[in-house]
Amino acid sequence: MITRRRLLKSLSGLPVVGGLFGTGFISAGSSPGSALYRDYFKELGVRTFINAAGTYTSMTGCLMPEEVTDAIKYATGDYVNLDDLQDKVGERIAELLHCEYATVTAGCFSAITLGTAGVLSGMDNKKVVQIPDLTGMKNEVILQKSHEIGYAHAIRNTGAKLVIVETRAELDKAINKNTAMLWFLNYANPQGEIKYQEWVEVGKKHGIPTFIDCAADVPPKENLWKFTEMGFDLVAFSGGKGLRGPQSAGLLLGKKELIKAARLHAPPRGNTVGRGMKVNKEEILGMLVALELFLNKDHQAEWKMWESQIQMINDAAASVEGVTTEIHVPEIANHVPSLKISWDEKDVKISGGDARTKLREGHPSIQVMGGDDNLAITTWMMQPGQERIVARRVKEVLQEAAS
Ligand SMILES: *Cc1c(COP(=O)(O)O)cnc(C)c1O
Repeated sequence: MITRRRLLKSLSGLPVVGGLFGTGFISAGSSPGSALYRDYFKELGVRTFINAAGTYTSMTGCLMPEEVTDAIKYATGDYVNLDDLQDKVGERIAELLHCEYATVTAGCFSAITLGTAGVLSGMDNKKVVQIPDLTGMKNEVILQKSHEIGYAHAIRNTGAKLVIVETRAELDKAINKNTAMLWFLNYANPQGEIKYQEWVEVGKKHGIPTFIDCAADVPPKENLWKFTEMGFDLVAFSGGKGLRGPQSAGLLLGKKELIKAARLHAPPRGNTVGRGMKVNKEEILGMLVALELFLNKDHQAEWKMWESQIQMINDAAASVEGVTTEIHVPEIANHVPSLKISWDEKDVKISGGDARTKLREGHPSIQVMGGDDNLAITTWMMQPGQERIVARRVKEVLQEAAS
């Protein structure tokens, strides 16, 4: 939706409104006060939807606050030296997050690849060019079995080999002269036998860098410094999840020497494993502004809003006979008020999949998650107010199947 403020802002600085017709900026035939922007998604036949699911790449992540899109727009207006901007923004982010150094990457996945590549190469430019061929270099990254998810591919991109352990004894035995790094997945902390503090201790004892993936782990905001303070050498976050920055941005935080080495693999340098992981001034500035906004916002008020939104949808769904609901907050990762709506198919004759199809194909289209006999909903990626529509539609779909 285009706010009046945004509309006026975009029109100011433009000489004559009439002169814009035919430029593609304003579609011919539109009158001031009506839809002055082209409705690109509609033109393309791409349906927009209410995101009651969460931060999913397939659903294009999050909606950036206007301050962030303003910063991105600002960045498009001038040239700067890419490395200078990364240097300055890195210093500023490090200050904000009480860590030694930081850089903006093209996402958490890219932060993992760049960070790992930096660990492998150090400041040796010959090694930078050689990667992913690790001949003559340390080539093993150790992680716990419960921490091995698809995103660990980000490590393998560098040519490094994953070494999987389950117990402390196995970890001690696995460490050898080829061990380059110890990798940890924050949300799997409860599942693994070795917890994060111990992981860091082992790394320090052997002088091996430790790296933790915290992609989806804000809120709470304290997580942004918890793990560098704990002693992890590198920490990665997604920029386009809870931080609500650009979807194609992320943060790599930690030790200056390692992040400087990681930067050797990133654009503008070309003969590198990270060349395709480009962030330009727009994402870099957008990420910084998103982070500032995130740190300064009233997290308690936002939490209360999420709770009341979830409660509203909960109450609507629970009013249907045969439906049970559960409000919960995941401990780590997507740590926000969440709703699970379940039913007995004897009473409510629809599968979870069919209910999601109805929601998706209805008007407006609504996307939720869930399993065979349930729906899973979060409201933190919705626009305020949309919870009313979601509550009404969820109730309608379940009610219909119940009667
Ligand atoms: C989302 C996610 C990633 C990938 O993050 P991007 O910012 O999309 O690159 C990596 N690890 C975990 C655990 C994630 O949840």
